[in-house]
Amino acid sequence: MQPFSIRSYPRAILHFDGDSFFASVEQAMNHRLRGKPVVTGGERGAATALSIEAKRLGLTRGMPMKQIRELCPEVIVVKSDYTAYSIYARRMYAIVRRYTPMVEEYSIDECFADITGLRGMYHRSYAQIGEMIKRELEESLGITFGVGLAPNKVVAKIASKHRKPGGFTAIPAKEVHTFLQNMPIGQVWGVGYSMQMALHKLGVTTALQFATKDEQWLRANKIAKPYREIWWELRGGFAKELSLTHNDDIGSIIKTRTFAPPTRERAFVLSQLSKNIESACAKARGHHMRPRAVSFFLKTQDFIYRTCELDLSVATNDPAVILRLVEAHFDRVFVPNILYRTTGITLRNLVEEGAATLDLFGEAQVVNERQPILTAVDSLNKKYGKETVILAASLKAVNHLEPNKQRNMTTRTSKVHLPLEQRKKTIDLPYLGRVR
Ligand SMILES: [Mg+2]
Repeated sequence: MQPFSIRSYPRAILHFDGDSFFASVEQAMNHRLRGKPVVTGGERGAATALSIEAKRLGLTRGMPMKQIRELCPEVIVVKSDYTAYSIYARRMYAIVRRYTPMVEEYSIDECFADITGLRGMYHRSYAQIGEMIKRELEESLGITFGVGLAPNKVVAKIASKHRKPGGFTAIPAKEVHTFLQNMPIGQVWGVGYSMQMALHKLGVTTALQFATKDEQWLRANKIAKPYREIWWELRGGFAKELSLTHNDDIGSIIKTRTFAPPTRERAFVLSQLSKNIESACAKARGHHMRPRAVSFFLKTQDFIYRTCELDLSVATNDPAVILRLVEAHFDRVFVPNILYRTTGITLRNLVEEGAATLDLFGEAQVVNERQPILTAVDSLNKKYGKETVILAASLKAVNHLEPNKQRNMTTRTSKVHLPLEQRKKTIDLPYLGRVR
């Protein structure tokens, strides 16, 4: 095959892949697990990730826990802790972003980075830059990474897998073909089972066979665009751009408020909650985010805490919609004749306003139609002061003046949290620098 380019890296793309990521995070967080066979997924009865030590025992992903315990009683089974995994993922993205803003957060344990043109800045070759980032990731996170350098994403994926675990492989454009020779076509990133079967029928079984086909062959066999891109990248070209959007900076929005004196009055407690819902939604609108799920809680005078989690049928930051849902479930949490002192709402699973939502009943369209009204409310509240326009349901809470207190002195917290916040776990995490 003619090399696509005489230059080694017309584009320089890195792919980072955390080794046995979930199990490695567990080992990084808990020194007692290091060097031991660890399996995650204890809560679902089958292995989701295995530490290198567990893999060496011949255990595989998806294996039932019962079987694992029978085969290897020494294996340590832990429950999945997705909060911790996503915090580590964010740290990984943040570290790579120190070197280049061109980072694609591909999955919880993988990312791509485009370092084209950065050799001068770092006074290093592309391979050296790749190794430098790899070293920093491993030192900061305590996890090893498979890293690949290539002229594109498809080949960078092949490179990072080449030497696992903890390997670094650089594949310049003119050497790509040597890595494709013995690679089954089905193992190429983006080639699914049905495409693999279709290519087999055309006599193509290895990645190299596909890469050496010409344009005429692609046309004659009606190869669709995504596969043409793969074909082009297997030849050392660049077709698949990095997707640079990241919506990891906000996981959930929480608004809580304590009032005095404590009350038994259902309508008042609900009004307090309504006010929190309004301000949480205003905040979400400020970030152009919409929650897909919410939870609310009530706290009694005796600090008894009851909470209720609800899924939204369509992502929305319209307080009226969320309030309707909360009202419908309010009595699951509210117990009559008990004194309440605090209410709170959490907007969860935030997605960007522009994100396409599919629904059966056209609710997404209704949400979009109401958006101009909310935008108008936001601009009025911005111009004439907070709570100029409010929901009638919030009126009782807004008009409530606390004894011995100015209204603006009341306890009100507003925080931005990582998703599925679990304080307990956050404390366990070693401090490893600032998370974006
Ligand atoms: Mg991985």
